[in-house]
Amino acid sequence: MAVKRVPLIAGNWKMNLDHLQAIATVQKLAWTLKDAKHEYGLGGAEVAVFPPFTDLRSVQTLISADKLEIVFGGQDVSEHDSGAYTGEISGAFLKSLDCSYVIIGHSERRQYHGETDELLGRKVAAALKHGLVPVLCVGETAEDLEQHGPSAVPVAQLKAALEGISGAPDLVVAYEPVWAIGSGQAATPEQAEQVAAKLRETLAELLGAEVADATRILYGGSVKSGNIAAFMREPNVDGALVGGASLDVAEFASIARFQKHVGT
Ligand code: PEP
Repeated sequence: MAVKRVPLIAGNWKMNLDHLQAIATVQKLAWTLKDAKHEYGLGGAEVAVFPPFTDLRSVQTLISADKLEIVFGGQDVSEHDSGAYTGEISGAFLKSLDCSYVIIGHSERRQYHGETDELLGRKVAAALKHGLVPVLCVGETAEDLEQHGPSAVPVAQLKAALEGISGAPDLVVAYEPVWAIGSGQAATPEQAEQVAAKLRETLAELLGAEVADATRILYGGSVKSGNIAAFMREPNVDGALVGGASLDVAEFASIARFQKHVGT
């Protein structure tokens, strides 16, 4: 029987908002969504924010003190548990701050930090080991799209990152075409659906039909309140990873309340 996947609207703040701004932003977000309580958390979806590491303790304190229905995670994780790895943050540390999720393999990490599929596979394993849900990002560049079509590179990245992972991992996959990130030019809902369906097929091959059915696949790349509903209508798109628009509380809250727009 098909599982009902809880939609996830996730805001990747990247290197924006210090810990004071983070507190103000989360407070405002919770306030804006306070009347949006629904079957799942806020606005019909699970709402997650991914602040910089230095904000996490402040965000945790606020969310736990005020019992806010917002979850959060880190933007990256080390493959290691602890030790002489200057600048790295371990999954154990994120877990001890009540992080639920961690983004792994964002295209900016792949591009600016040379993160390879092999390393990302080890990071996925580290996240799972520490009880964090990896939000594994995959996506093709404009060149990849021209040379190989839309799904070849994301599927290859997914296969490589999940090599060595078995069982029924609690995992989120974010399909983020690199050409759509921060460009204002989102993929069409049909393009997102086509790749998301291929990714789900790949998950079924690698981990079985049940895991594939339960795994949420997000679309990311220039998502806004004006286009979220169209993505959410697609059967294999279970939410969005939002960059720029997640820094604008009103806009992000409106995205999180996508159900208001679905069917309109
Ligand atoms: C991202 O960086 O993950 C992203 C999707 O960015 P944006 O929404 O700004 O395109």
